Amino acid sequence: MDEPRSPGIVWFRRDLRLEDNPAWGAATSRHDEVTALFVIDAALWNRTIGRRTALLAENLRMLDRSLAARGGRLRVEHGDPTTVVPHIARTLRAAVHANADFTPYASKRDAAVAASATTEWHHGLTVHPIGAVTKADGTLYMVFTPFAEAWRRRPLEGSPVPGTARLTADPGSGVPSAGPPPMVGGEEAARTRFKDFLSRVDSYPDIRDRPDLDETSHLSIDLKYGTLSPRAVAAAVEDERGWPFVRQLAWRDFHAALMADNPNLVDHAMKPAYDRIPWIDDDAGFESWCAGETGYPIVDAGMRQLRETGWMHNRVRMITASFLTKHLLIDWRRGERFFRRHLLDADTAVNAGNWQWVAGSGADAAPYFRVFNPVSQARKHDPDGAYIRRWVPELAGVPAPHVHAPWAAGTSDLAGSRARIDYPAPIVEHSAARERALAAYRSALG
Ligand SMILES: Cc1cc2nc3c(=O)[nH]c(=O)nc-3n(C[C@H](O)[C@H](O)[C@H](O)COP(=O)(O)OP(=O)(O)OC[C@H]3O[C@@H](n4cnc5c(N)ncnc54)[C@H](O)[C@@H]3O)c2cc1C
Repeated sequence: MDEPRSPGIVWFRRDLRLEDNPAWGAATSRHDEVTALFVIDAALWNRTIGRRTALLAENLRMLDRSLAARGGRLRVEHGDPTTVVPHIARTLRAAVHANADFTPYASKRDAAVAASATTEWHHGLTVHPIGAVTKADGTLYMVFTPFAEAWRRRPLEGSPVPGTARLTADPGSGVPSAGPPPMVGGEEAARTRFKDFLSRVDSYPDIRDRPDLDETSHLSIDLKYGTLSPRAVAAAVEDERGWPFVRQLAWRDFHAALMADNPNLVDHAMKPAYDRIPWIDDDAGFESWCAGETGYPIVDAGMRQLRETGWMHNRVRMITASFLTKHLLIDWRRGERFFRRHLLDADTAVNAGNWQWVAGSGADAAPYFRVFNPVSQARKHDPDGAYIRRWVPELAGVPAPHVHAPWAAGTSDLAGSRARIDYPAPIVEHSAARERALAAYRSALG
């Protein structure tokens, strides 16, 4: 008879799924008995706003349900993972399997756990393993297009096959209740959303920049919690027609690789000269931006959508971020933190990478002198103004083209709407703000 093998632990973090999960596949095939563990880390849990905590709890409940269907339970513990995980590993005499994370907080935490427990790290958070796509000399790509080409050429790893390990059924302290979730969680719902999007992936290039249509995949939330495997998404859309969509996942991997290499991505400009920009300490401007009261309808629609729902369309994220950093000349770090707090899909690497991209300081950023005009952007990407009217009720009765720039409309154009009375005038004038931004950038960059 074979010797019994030592037990294993799968320490779930932001990979809350059983399908296509390398840590889960390895642990359940290499051990006879496996404990599925999640540690509620107060440092992260208490920093998060309600709707995101509620979604995390919902995803944990769904994971627990999937485990129960296989005879086990999700063991939920509270505390500092650097002491809780090694303690449980010692008690169970188990090896810990987890999908490697690369944010500065996670790297430090995981190194501490690895110092006092037997750990095995797998790759489950990105399409290709972090660090696998590099230039021929082994250095990081700083330009996206060649990265994306190399990324696309690299064959995908195989899908991990789960083994037959027995699952332990101790629920620990159980999944805490955290209020009603903003959406249905769990991997099954995530796969259904993905299948639904697949049926319209062909139209992605035509609609991807249209916030009024809002038909992009919305998978960023599932990818954030790991209820969907990025590798499995890429594998399912391997043909040419799906490339414009899959290419976006390459951006996600690109930012992950940048953060793994630059732990300071959230605090420092990747191009150091950009840290010399004389940002303005404009608290009133920042408050107007946060509240969606800048007087620029597309900016206000985006910020109100973000606060009310935790979501904002990519094009509008670019416009609002550009408005903060260029029109108001407010430090991108303030906007980055605000987005990170409010977005349901908040992802430290992707968020910081994109903020730096918009501010001009990041890898492959557009040249700083390209300043988005919020009115022409709105006219192009929300031509009828439907997106603006949805989120800015003061403009509900205002037709295009006035809805994009209500201050320029005559009284009769605004008749029947609350715009004239209730909607703020622009807090900065576009051309003057643009000139001020260009002068500030020029002075810093020489
Ligand atoms: C200032 C700013 C901040 C952002 N912050 C985040 C964030 O915290 N979390 C986040 O997931 N995305 C962020 N993005 C990227 C992008 O806006 C979202 O990923 C996208 O809007 C999510 O919608 P979707 O799933 O329908 O995307 P789709 O258009 O359907 O794209 C598919 C997937 O590709 C990835 N993706 C798409 N665009 C980007 C991008 N520019 N960079 C990296 N990955 C991308 C996402 O995982 C997305 O789910 C940010 C963009 C900007 C400009």
